[in-house]
Amino acid sequence: MSVDLQNPEVVIRERRLGSIVAFSGTGAELVEKSRGQRLECQANRFNQCGDCSGQRAMLPISQIQDTVMINHGPVGCAGDFGLFNWQFRRGLTFRGERPRDIGAISTNLTERDIVYGGAEKLAKTIREAHGRYKPRAIFVASSCASGIIGDDIEEVVNGMELELGIPVVGVYCEGFKSKIWTTGFDAAYHGIVRKLVKGPVEIDKKTVNIMGFTSLKTFDPLLGLLGLKPRYLVHQATLEEIGQMSQALASSHICETLGTYLARALEQEYGVPELRAPPPFGQDWTDQWLRELGRLAGLEEKAEEVIASERKRIEPELNEIREKLAGLRVWTLAGAAFGHNLASIASDLGLKVIGMLAFHHDQTFDNDYEEINSLKNCLGKVGSVNRYAVCNKQPYQLVNLLNEAKPDLVLARHGYLPTVPAKMGIPSYFVPETNQHIGYDGLLFAGRKILKVLRGGNFVKNIASRAKLPYTDWWRNSDPFYFRETSHGL
Ligand code: SF4
Repeated sequence: MSVDLQNPEVVIRERRLGSIVAFSGTGAELVEKSRGQRLECQANRFNQCGDCSGQRAMLPISQIQDTVMINHGPVGCAGDFGLFNWQFRRGLTFRGERPRDIGAISTNLTERDIVYGGAEKLAKTIREAHGRYKPRAIFVASSCASGIIGDDIEEVVNGMELELGIPVVGVYCEGFKSKIWTTGFDAAYHGIVRKLVKGPVEIDKKTVNIMGFTSLKTFDPLLGLLGLKPRYLVHQATLEEIGQMSQALASSHICETLGTYLARALEQEYGVPELRAPPPFGQDWTDQWLRELGRLAGLEEKAEEVIASERKRIEPELNEIREKLAGLRVWTLAGAAFGHNLASIASDLGLKVIGMLAFHHDQTFDNDYEEINSLKNCLGKVGSVNRYAVCNKQPYQLVNLLNEAKPDLVLARHGYLPTVPAKMGIPSYFVPETNQHIGYDGLLFAGRKILKVLRGGNFVKNIASRAKLPYTDWWRNSDPFYFRETSHGL
């Protein structure tokens, strides 16, 4: 499905990519059933916790320098502002800049506004934001409440844009709109491409767009090997960097789940190609990534030289790590495609991937290129995965899946989940910063960290001996997918 920039709203992932939040089977079955998008998006009848796609829309738009983000909703929807602020300050330090706070305001919709409408309050808040922060652009993110009462946010932002003379960008992803929380990322990118990306003024064949979560500069040395440089997007980027996305050799990302909508939009609108290779996690995928960049830049021979010399450079330490990790059985827990990156790293470190849990699954990607079929690439790398579960982060399901598999180690992205295996006495490595794990050095970095986690095995055993999980024997003996919507005819 093409990206429709005439429509202010993004098409949700369930419709665009056939995304799902529940599946239990093998990795090969999931690849097979995803062809032609044959799987339905079923929900659980019981959820212990949830996530809001509106929050995921607010994250990227809160991270752009010299802008303000307004959430048009009740103040409770602004609960993640503190987290966004922490991420922005931390990201600026990665860029070598002075940490600063984000500009973020809630319109604080009340019951009265729900009855009489909140458009006037939104206009007043945009003026307030303009006066208070003097931003160069303003984002307005919708919420469940503003969506339900039908406030015409687009009319307000277009009017304010004329009044203030700066871009005012509507980002539409009410929390109830999609079961797939990453629809929020797409909504943010949709608004950014509609209003902030400028047409190319020169051909920049030395710069690669990198869509990620921070601007930690690990792509600098890796791309530097080919004489190229990264443009980190969109977190902590300047408005100039955002505007120049249309001028690049290619677009790549730290994970297909995060980046393919923006990459597709740039390819469709400006002809910037999406890199047709898996992201550079693990040795083999980094080889493929550099090779494809070399092809696009006309540097095929140089790429082969770099790959050979980098492999040689890391070989002694990599072999040592592999010897220590050989035969250990691992599970990954991560948001869809990033779990495949973790599996690629695990496999290159000599670990055996026995199971994977993805928080959702996209049956296709926006650019439906076989080379970026993340799950297929992953299985091609790690072999068959007999237990592949798609589960929207529910700890009660995770407990039963891990009880059944009894892995030696868990690799996880998303902070609170590693506490579950820890309470079960299973060591887990949490990946807080994706960019640290890219390329050849990222592989060694992951290996060293995993060895350190394993050395602390007694620590999790102690935790397990004192922790009591709140599940009954009935649940512990039940199918982890017992509460799936269509089970038991309900
Ligand atoms: S947008 Fe909806 S789901 Fe998200 S925090 Fe607000 S009320 Fe909750």
